[in-house]
Amino acid sequence: CGIVGYIGNQDVKEILVKGLERLEYRGYDSAGIAILNDRGLHVYKEEGRIAALREVIDLEEVANVGIGHTRCATHGKPSRRNAHPHQSNNGRFTVVHNGVIENYQEMKRQFLSQVSFASDTDTEVIAQMMAYLVEKGLGVPEAFRQLLLEIKGSYAIALLDHEDTETIYVGKNKSPLLIGQGTDFHVIASDAMAMLQLTNQFVELMDEEMVILRQHAKQITNLRGEIMQRRPFQVKLDA
Ligand code: GLU
Repeated sequence: CGIVGYIGNQDVKEILVKGLERLEYRGYDSAGIAILNDRGLHVYKEEGRIAALREVIDLEEVANVGIGHTRCATHGKPSRRNAHPHQSNNGRFTVVHNGVIENYQEMKRQFLSQVSFASDTDTEVIAQMMAYLVEKGLGVPEAFRQLLLEIKGSYAIALLDHEDTETIYVGKNKSPLLIGQGTDFHVIASDAMAMLQLTNQFVELMDEEMVILRQHAKQITNLRGEIMQRRPFQVKLDA
């Protein structure tokens, strides 16, 4: 299972799907992508092979920002319904996640008892909780930080805000996640392998860090909101 993401000026569909194919060795039971353009958010997902996902993607839909996921089911059986990305009921937030949210039942009971869930996953609480926190009046970056403070467990998360085509929100704890950078784009990947065709410059994320990722900028903070400076390293392929 794995995560990919891209924000830049190229069309994302093929970048995401190729990236997911390079993560196939990690195993998965379903795959999906979400792409965002000024016409809206478009989600494509399928149970089974990435080849099946390829067939449902609308090639006419061009976008410069998107996230992708291969799933190793932990909560909810492998199915299209449980495949990522998952969305909040108001349609605003879309998320992919690797890992396990140990307290998702508690979060549902405490904050989301009015919400009807569209999947059996632990992951969906991320999207629904973002909608809940933003409806309470928080800005999206602060809502994301509060969300990560609430979650217990492991996560690599990439989240899109339907109302903002220029940002990907990224979080990491005990699941691998890297940010790659090029001159006019950023990428996200569980393994540098997924994006090496675009860049070999990567920045490592530490546990309990979040990133506000844009085409030309990234802000890494810990969950206290302190800005972390981090230099990229160069990934070299072993011969
Ligand atoms: N726990 C999540 C699920 O079952 C994510 C699993 C994964 O890492 O792919 O949907």
